[in-house]
Amino acid sequence: MNHGDVGYIRASVQHHPNVAGLYFHIPFCHRACTYCDFHFSTSLRTKEPVLAAMRRELRERIGELKDEPLDSIYFGGGTPSLLGPDELAMLLGDVRSLAPVAPDAEITLEANPDDIHAGALDAWQGLGINRVSLGVQSFREDRLRWMNRSHGARQSLEAIARLARAGLATWTIDLIYGLPGMDLAEWDEQLTIALDHGMPHLSAYCLTVETRTALHKQVADGRVQLPADADQAAQFEHLMQRMHRAGLVQYEISNFGKEDHFARHNTSYWQGVPYLGIGPSAHSYDGLHRRWNVANNVRYAQGVERGDRYWEQETLTPAQRINERLMTGLRTIWGVELAPLGDEFSRLNASTLNRYLALDELEIRDGRLLLTAKGRHFADRIASDLFMPAT
Ligand code: SF4
Repeated sequence: MNHGDVGYIRASVQHHPNVAGLYFHIPFCHRACTYCDFHFSTSLRTKEPVLAAMRRELRERIGELKDEPLDSIYFGGGTPSLLGPDELAMLLGDVRSLAPVAPDAEITLEANPDDIHAGALDAWQGLGINRVSLGVQSFREDRLRWMNRSHGARQSLEAIARLARAGLATWTIDLIYGLPGMDLAEWDEQLTIALDHGMPHLSAYCLTVETRTALHKQVADGRVQLPADADQAAQFEHLMQRMHRAGLVQYEISNFGKEDHFARHNTSYWQGVPYLGIGPSAHSYDGLHRRWNVANNVRYAQGVERGDRYWEQETLTPAQRINERLMTGLRTIWGVELAPLGDEFSRLNASTLNRYLALDELEIRDGRLLLTAKGRHFADRIASDLFMPAT
């Protein structure tokens, strides 16, 4: 059986077309992690005006979701767990007073291990938060120091033990592989620790060097040497095999979950369900337009307050919509339904499709285009090779 077959059959019926997602970007962190290029500030000076602006933006824009019931509410960032329970309660209270929330909605909070104490978990669950996404990244102290994370290895283990006992609907952890000097033994040890703690879901990312990060400078200066592509590929292969053996379905290139533990928020995003993003740098999608808020706390808060424009927007062309479906959909076990892509897509891509089918990197099943286990190593390249030209 191919990796992911079980997940394909069951999970393909999870898609809810008439629902929407809500995303809050909480743009504050305890520290700046070496590799991170998300929008955040390590100063809490703008917290109050930013939260006030987010409440206002929510009131002004909730109508864009056209009364579709909210299936997922996601607090991402940044580090949402540094908000107090009263601040989270305020935002969730606003949501519930403004929009229908599905009774079984997934409500996720991204958290750092140093913010997980017994009192916090009780408070979050009391607010209806039923999924916690824990930014572990590594269980090794030296790695965490190198990443400039704000937590230590022991805090991760304690946080995981608390999450496992807390009675949440689900929880997940993030780990990073492809680190400088990392070998298969180290990566295997990381996965063993996570699995031994009963982790129901894992997001595992290969280290990438983004511009405007401390890591970028360290690599440019020659202070840090990245592993060879072959080593990173071997770690990715090992990850897929270990998760498969442990019964976690690779339902997206970087995401593995036991059945019934797949992330609804991310899955909706990959399946093109509309979502509303609130806060500095947050993105929104209504099926036709992409909109993104300014990635600057002061300019965001002032823009919302004064009624100035604080976002940019683009209308996606038919070609861009197809390319987005390919870019996100191909990475998932649901793949991309071929018929809606149109005849022109099949005509223009006939030879590329045949080549990847012959290489056993793509397959077509039930009218859907899917990556094979081999093709998952080259997801982005395959997707971009199939892109429709700009019109
Ligand atoms: S905690 Fe997360 S968002 Fe904040 S700097 Fe680190 S990786 Fe980036």
